Amino acid sequence: MAELRWNPLLRTWVMVASNRQNRPNLPRDNCPFCPGSGKVPDYYDVLAFDNDFPVMSPHPPEPDPVASSFYKTMPAHGKCEVILYSSQHAITLQELSVEHIHKLVKLWKSRCAELSKDPLVKYVFPFENKGEEVGATIAHPHGQIYAYPFLPLKLETEYASAREYFEREGECLFCRINKEEQSFGGRIVYENASMLVYIPFFTDYPWGVFVVSKRHVSHLTDFSEEEERDLAEALKVIVGSFDALFDRPFPYMMVMHQGPVNHELEKPSREFFHWHIEFYPPLRARDRIKFYASSEMGAWAAANVVAVEQSAKQLRDARLKFFIGWDERKALEEALSLFVQFYGGKREDISVYRSPARVNLIGEHIDYNGGWVFPAAINRFIYAIVRKRTDRVVRLSSLQFPGVVEVDLDHIERQDNSWANYPLGVIDQWKKKKLPLSCGLDVLFISNIPAGSGVSSSAAFEVVFATALNDLFGGGLSAQEIALLCQRAENEFVGVSCGIMDQFAVAMGKKDHALLLHCDTLEYRAIPVQLKGYIFVLTNSNKKRELVDSAYNTRLAECRRALEILRSRFAVQHLCELSQKDLEANRSLFEREEVLYRRAYHVVTENERTLEAAKCLEMGDVEGFGRLLNASHDSLRKNYEVTGQHLDTLVELARRVDGCVGSRMTGAGFGGCTISLVREDALDKFKKIVGEGYKERFGISADFFVIHLEDGARKIFGSEEKKK
Ligand SMILES: [Zn+2]
Ligand SMILES: [Zn+2]
Ligand SMILES: [Zn+2]
Repeated sequence: MAELRWNPLLRTWVMVASNRQNRPNLPRDNCPFCPGSGKVPDYYDVLAFDNDFPVMSPHPPEPDPVASSFYKTMPAHGKCEVILYSSQHAITLQELSVEHIHKLVKLWKSRCAELSKDPLVKYVFPFENKGEEVGATIAHPHGQIYAYPFLPLKLETEYASAREYFEREGECLFCRINKEEQSFGGRIVYENASMLVYIPFFTDYPWGVFVVSKRHVSHLTDFSEEEERDLAEALKVIVGSFDALFDRPFPYMMVMHQGPVNHELEKPSREFFHWHIEFYPPLRARDRIKFYASSEMGAWAAANVVAVEQSAKQLRDARLKFFIGWDERKALEEALSLFVQFYGGKREDISVYRSPARVNLIGEHIDYNGGWVFPAAINRFIYAIVRKRTDRVVRLSSLQFPGVVEVDLDHIERQDNSWANYPLGVIDQWKKKKLPLSCGLDVLFISNIPAGSGVSSSAAFEVVFATALNDLFGGGLSAQEIALLCQRAENEFVGVSCGIMDQFAVAMGKKDHALLLHCDTLEYRAIPVQLKGYIFVLTNSNKKRELVDSAYNTRLAECRRALEILRSRFAVQHLCELSQKDLEANRSLFEREEVLYRRAYHVVTENERTLEAAKCLEMGDVEGFGRLLNASHDSLRKNYEVTGQHLDTLVELARRVDGCVGSRMTGAGFGGCTISLVREDALDKFKKIVGEGYKERFGISADFFVIHLEDGARKIFGSEEKKK
């Protein structure tokens, strides 16, 4: 049964369709939109096809005979189509190229034109439900189009308001709203040549973004080629900013409002109505749902719990974060304007420095045992935008944290629980070394390094700032000396005991290389990493790392005790000076200390694995390298016991994927990330199997990012560089 029933209270039609209840619950691995399902072609970029369980159809059944002289029914004439954004299951709209999204816009446009040809169709409505929070059951990126045989109530209301305003003021209501938002400016989130993106003054959703064309145009079918492309770009930016806002896939409803078709209002609407897209993201904070509750639903009295001007600013900051990962030049441009907005002055005297994050490929829990580690700098960055001052004041601000920290250069003190301790610790060490520091600074930090995910945002923070001081004041330090200074800053000022690995990797990193580093002697070699069709994928468990500090200290103590025991036989300073054979031959020493034996066993074998892994990469033996990743994780799980359920599950799922040759936790453990070596063409499957399996088990989403190995910290913009 599928029919329309008239609601005399609200004077609109309700679509009643019992066939939709019988939609099959598909098994997870069986996505109908993936190539190979039998429902879609083997290859497509974007695709429209008919919904299998439509509410409305071109040949609807006769309504059930339940109407009366009072209650009215109507056949559910119309169309329901599915719009697939990509053949890749695990990709999201923001990850698609602008060219690809342009194809989607063209598809919307051609479907709107086609569906309008049916004279019974009165309104064509492209939309998307994204995320479980809005009931999207299939993760494959897709939207829908409904073609209604009537004007939906919300549209009818907007038409009436726009028409009345137009007749009274002689101007389009939306053109007026555009002008208001442009002249205020504070609610604008993005704009390009054809599109204006803002959270309107009156929104009822904290991130209720509107995308409105700058030109007065009523229907998508009237878009120019340039407007199509600009819409594609604006969509990429806004959805990317959403995802960057809380570092999580951001759920939303996205709806397109345009003029009606085959209706008496079609022609006048070209004058009074204005095409736009409205977003309804059902969140009011990272993990808080914005419900449409009694007042909203039952009285249509909306309440927005967030000040729009505030949420627009948050979204603009998130947009900058998104740009860092997408287009560094755009990010830089924005960062400079933001700096000037924030601190005033001119652009000319500003310098920008960049430091990567790091990942340790293998050699875990080795850095405090005097052995080999194998870290690399990766494509997540923190930028320090810096300008000298004429006095002794240092002002520090960061997009991630509210407020400005202002200190006197001659009185640097540790702050309680503040991110500013990273740069302040660097200044402290700088002064202790009596390095030149002739004046104060204004500094703005921006970053897309996810905090607490184990890719060492703290080392990047310190190193980028030390690199800036070194350049601006002529410190004359080598990258290695910068790393050592920053490690001391972290040990002594921030108060975290850490080895040298993190600071070394972000200071000394080399593009497409990993650093085989001996943590005691600092002997190192940059090993070229050629993966021949394979890629490294970081998977963030998004699990808070709770036990990490206490476990770290416990393991540190256990390693020291194991070393003491072994020193009764061997004259060594560090566990890593021993071999697996040495250890096995002396197992009897650990008769009552089985745990200590396992800890030492991990350290010694991991050290050997690290050297072997570097050899594998040098020889291009990707599979051999993958096997060592697996062995490393197994040892961290069984012998060192720092993995935990979340990381173990990610690794187990990864190993199920045909095309993943190795996977292990990376970082201190108990949360944070795994690193996996995946064949490029298996990435989509990898994200699907690992992402969906993990979500099913723990109810939280994992994030994936493909990493590239990058250069260490350096200056990327500044006047002095130009003179050289
Ligand atoms: Zn799929
Ligand atoms: Zn207009
Ligand atoms: Zn609207």
